[in-house]
Amino acid sequence: MSELPLPHDLERLQIIRVWIGEQQARSETIGKLLEILAETIDSAIGAAAPAGPPDTYRIQKMRVPESPALLHRGDCWIAGGGNINRDEALMALADDVTSGQLEMCKACRPEESLEA
Ligand SMILES: [Zn+2]
Repeated sequence: MSELPLPHDLERLQIIRVWIGEQQARSETIGKLLEILAETIDSAIGAAAPAGPPDTYRIQKMRVPESPALLHRGDCWIAGGGNINRDEALMALADDVTSGQLEMCKACRPEESLEA
């Protein structure tokens, strides 16, 4: 199965396997830390965003077809998506969120200005 030039003795194979496990654990830890950092920064950006309802909203479709689209405020710092007006955003909020086709951006929290 393997094309890698692996050693044939058990001891060195076990050492390599332990090292791989350590690298995997390290990568997972870094991934979790980056996730927490991203959420923290998103919250800070959301808190610093201008108050009051925006003039437009945006629906950003994801590259993975089965992933739900994201609804943003028009002034969200995350780029991408087509502009829609408040009424269209309210319709999307009612229909597409319920059906799981749309999620709210965690950075700009468009639902807060739509529910107001
Ligand atoms: Zn957003």
